[in-house]
This record gives sequence, C-alpha cells and structure tokens, in this order.
Amino acid sequence: MEKDLQTLREKALDCHSCPLCETRTNVVFGAGVPDAEILLIGEAPGEQEDKQGEPFVGRSGVLLDKMLAAIDLSREKNVYIANMVKCRPPQNRDPKPEEVDACMGYLRNQTLLLRPKIILCVGRIAAQHLISPTFKVTQQHGQFIQKNGVYMAGTFHPSALLRNPANKPAAMEDFFALRELIGKVCRHTY
Ligand code: URA
Repeated sequence: MEKDLQTLREKALDCHSCPLCETRTNVVFGAGVPDAEILLIGEAPGEQEDKQGEPFVGRSGVLLDKMLAAIDLSREKNVYIANMVKCRPPQNRDPKPEEVDACMGYLRNQTLLLRPKIILCVGRIAAQHLISPTFKVTQQHGQFIQKNGVYMAGTFHPSALLRNPANKPAAMEDFFALRELIGKVCRHTY
C-alpha cells in the first residue's frame, strides 16, 4: 500500500506485472482531483490514451467529458477517472482476467487513497468485476447499491454509446441519478 497517489503513480509507471507492459506506450494511471468524492472506473486505455498517458482522451473520452459536464462534473474540478487495467490491451481487446488481477492492487490502492463516496463503473467490464459478475448494463444501469459504505452503479460505456446512440438518453438518466445522489451524500462536489 502506497501512502499517496504520486508515489503509487510512480510505481505503476514502472510496472511489469503482466505482459501488457511489453506492448504499451504509456501507463495510464488515472486523472482527476485527489480529493474527488466521485470515482469513475473504465475498462482499459485505448489507442489515444496509450499515446497520451491519460484516461478517456479519445472519441469516447470526449463523449464522457460532455456527459460529465452536463451534471457539472469534470476531471479538472471534482472527479477522478481510472481504469480497471492501466495498460492498453493490443487491438483494444477485452482485458484478460489475469491482467485485471495483476492490475487490481493499483485500483484498490487508488480507491483507498481517494476514499470516494460514489463509484461509477463505466461499462460492463468494470461493473462485472466490481459490482457483480453477472451484471447486465442494459438491465441494471443506473441502479445504485451500497458496498462497504460506498455507493456504486454501472452505466453504459461511451464507446458503446457511440456504436449505439439510441442508448444515450438512458445513459443520461444515470448521470442525472448520479447528480441527485451527489446532492444527498457528497460534501464538496458541488
Ligand atoms: N475506454 C476506457 O474504458 N478507458 C479509457 O481510458 C479509454 C477508453
């Protein structure tokens, strides 16, 4: 367990715990404010994220930032964004369970340091690992549960929304539900 995000980031940047280290350009540790009450967790870096070393900076990131802005959230101001896996899987394939396992210590350490009030799992991979292995985004999105004192929900992944824009209104409902929950349980987000 590292005691601050900067030390943890430095450790992650040097990680060789799984084969993804051989094909990555950059480790994508996470981005946002260190006192965030909201933690968003995506799947894994894509091509742009791998190039730039930042989460959600490609096409899906632009959409995610817009959805966050609609409820007055941003990585500059009041959220933290991380991924299940910190290095890009080749051809953007799903991360393998052993890659998720190898990376889980970083996410756990990030979560312990941030102590978020709310975790939003962005997409199936994060929701199935962190909420329930049988999680179905289309059926269970936006349903907040409490786990170890932290509110958690899963929502659509923005790249799924780019492929299927018909789900955008349902995804926005999740963000409005998030805004309402923030009003109830967060102290300094708004
Ligand atoms: N998709 C993710 O799940 N995470 C990113 O950082 C980028 C795309």
